[in-house]
Amino acid sequence: MSNQENKILEQGATIGIVGGGQLGKMLALSALQLGFKVAIYCPDPDSPAFDVTPLKFIANYDDEKKLAEFANLVDIITYEFENLPTQSLKFLEKIKPVAPSSTILEIAQDRLKEKLFLASNDIAVAQYMKVETLSDLENAVKEITLPIVLKTTRMGYDGKGQRIIKTEQQIEQAFNELKGSTLIAEKFISFEREISIIVARNRRGQVRDYDASENIHENHILKTSTVPANIDNITRKRASRIAHEIIGSLDYIGVLGIEFFVVANEPYAKLIVNEIAPRVHNSGHFTQAVCFTSQFEQHIRAIANWPLGDPTRLANVTMENLIGDEIIDAHKDLQSGTRPDFYGKKQVREGRKMGHLNHISFLSE
Ligand code: AMP
Repeated sequence: MSNQENKILEQGATIGIVGGGQLGKMLALSALQLGFKVAIYCPDPDSPAFDVTPLKFIANYDDEKKLAEFANLVDIITYEFENLPTQSLKFLEKIKPVAPSSTILEIAQDRLKEKLFLASNDIAVAQYMKVETLSDLENAVKEITLPIVLKTTRMGYDGKGQRIIKTEQQIEQAFNELKGSTLIAEKFISFEREISIIVARNRRGQVRDYDASENIHENHILKTSTVPANIDNITRKRASRIAHEIIGSLDYIGVLGIEFFVVANEPYAKLIVNEIAPRVHNSGHFTQAVCFTSQFEQHIRAIANWPLGDPTRLANVTMENLIGDEIIDAHKDLQSGTRPDFYGKKQVREGRKMGHLNHISFLSE
């Protein structure tokens, strides 16, 4: 083992988090609980993560002077969302360790690189082709066959930058609406359900994963995650094995979210990886309420190179996202078995994630 692999972040050290949203806030709270100090870097002064630490860096992500100030103050750097300029992460990496690394961010923020990485590791993905021109898309339609999902390769989230093409007549319009950046055409997968696995790895290579959650989206935004997912044990074990393979082959440090399509296929379901998220994940919020170690604590343990915590789940749970004005009266009729997390965002906006509820039920129910 090299020194770098052995190095442990001591209590009292400062963890720098790039991004100030709810994920940053919940990571910061776990870091504080473990005896660390936390600095947050985010351009928006109203970001929820700024509520939990006095160490605030309010500047654009490409402001190298401010980035250097931030990096010089902290001992290690992590991030809470993937639409960051990799250049900024590379800049920070020259000053302090960054986990997950900029190499991982480069893969995860580009759908083509992500698919190539997965496919080259023998992990099943939807059939795909790169699209730069209308004739590329027409070729992809011939090759892959309709229906197809056309996506921008970068900066897509919550269904943004995506069009489903079901008929030949929709091809040109979908292309015109998304053209201007590199696109990817994917086979539309007629899935039975969507699941995800949250997995963590520390610098010494210890890996732990959580029970798969079953995810329901409304208007392209995650609405609920239920655990256990309605899948058989073999599918559950295979998803877990794939998660271990992915995190190991990326030499990844921290928590990783992996989204799968589950396709009905006798005798066992087929698993197709949709995407990976190099951070704590919305579908892993259930871990806060019902697991020995939450995904947030696990991420901090992993980047600090502490022993990973026990991911065992102690109860059944449905995590429900509160979106837009669903937050307003959410505190008024809380059930006793519901654990609330409200993000404290100053502005309610349509489609904005404002909080979540974990509805807990006991294993025997
Ligand atoms: P993504 O941004 O890739 O996570 O896609 C958001 C959601 O769109 C997914 O959770 C699926 O519900 C749906 N979706 C994305 N890609 C496909 C696909 N190839 N086939 C079917 N549904 C998809």
